[in-house]
Amino acid sequence: MIEHLRPGVTASGARVVLFDFDGTLSTIRSGWVEIMVPMMVDILAGLGTGESEADLREIVLEFVGRLTGKETIYQMMALADEITKRGGAPEDPKVYKKMYLDALMERIKDRLEGLESGRTSPEEWLVPGSRALLEGLKARGLKLYLASGTDHANVVQEAKLLQVYDYFDGGVFGALDDLKAFSKAILVKQIVDSAEHKGEEFLAFGDGYVEVQVVKEVGGVAVGVASDEPACERVDDWKRNRLVGVGADWIVPHYANTELLMRTLFPE
Ligand SMILES: [Mg+2]
Repeated sequence: MIEHLRPGVTASGARVVLFDFDGTLSTIRSGWVEIMVPMMVDILAGLGTGESEADLREIVLEFVGRLTGKETIYQMMALADEITKRGGAPEDPKVYKKMYLDALMERIKDRLEGLESGRTSPEEWLVPGSRALLEGLKARGLKLYLASGTDHANVVQEAKLLQVYDYFDGGVFGALDDLKAFSKAILVKQIVDSAEHKGEEFLAFGDGYVEVQVVKEVGGVAVGVASDEPACERVDDWKRNRLVGVGADWIVPHYANTELLMRTLFPE
């Protein structure tokens, strides 16, 4: 269940942990790809270039995947570029982002209501083992940060609904309208520049490759979470391959065997 890509590498030097949210801890938004991708394929197909839907789907899947983990607006900017390339006149990317979020909200509103009312247990929308993992990392004295490409207010709300918000003593960060004000790279750089922690003291957990890449670039170590949402039982090959490509040190489908995972990351 735990694939160790760099035998000998451990997380024993880690002092600070950067978690992605969607697909890494939360499965509330799972299924978002199947909202975003068909929406984009429809828009591109409407330009009448003669490309098949299958070809368009492949193009869209590539950039959506490549930009997963960054703020959602970047995927919409890529869509606008594809429209321009085909001779179309794109709307402001914010228009596409709103269209997508409205459709996604329709899909997940029952999940949110279930959590708000207490009918649903938070564990139902957490990647298995998440809470035990967060507890284990806290018990080791690590400082935890949550950083997401989802809009800030939503990350805060959903982290609270899942009752994981309080684990993040480093802070909870989400996308802001001002793209220069926040990104996972900016957050890591700020922590390193403040001399609070060195790059090699970072451990990342993420299912989209941005957080893995950012932490690997500063010399940290990373667990790629190739969760097959929403079940999170097996490794999703598409996610795995991207995470391996960007340098993940370990690949897991979930954290259900928390003790084994902690022993693997922190031997002795
Ligand atoms: Mg994610």
